[in-house]
Amino acid sequence: MTMLRKLGAVVGLLFVASAIGCGAAVSTATVAADHAEAKAKAGHVHTHDSWWCDEHGVPEEMCGQCSAKVAADCQKKGDWCAQHDRPDSQCFLCHPELEARFAARYEAKYGKKPPQPEG
Ligand SMILES: [Zn+2]
Ligand SMILES: [Zn+2]
Repeated sequence: MTMLRKLGAVVGLLFVASAIGCGAAVSTATVAADHAEAKAKAGHVHTHDSWWCDEHGVPEEMCGQCSAKVAADCQKKGDWCAQHDRPDSQCFLCHPELEARFAARYEAKYGKKPPQPEG
């Protein structure tokens, strides 16, 4: 093998290696972007067109943290946790057992556990 051909082979190898390195970097970035998108779809963007309030772990129509009307009704009934600013009957901080009770309603409807509420 002449010196020149040897050099050519080394340059060729380097080229292949850098091309692979480049490709790997691009695909990692793509995966990261896909992941972020999936995360956004997984409930961090709160839409109010579904039955369930993902954010608070109760049916949307009775969510005292999303609906000012529900909140006012609950306050009228004295069903209010002033400490956590939500209906007492939906305060999972004071009544952790309620979370499971609401979750059971979701599970009965969809056959799976609801997404973890944000607290
Ligand atoms: Zn809500
Ligand atoms: Zn509370």
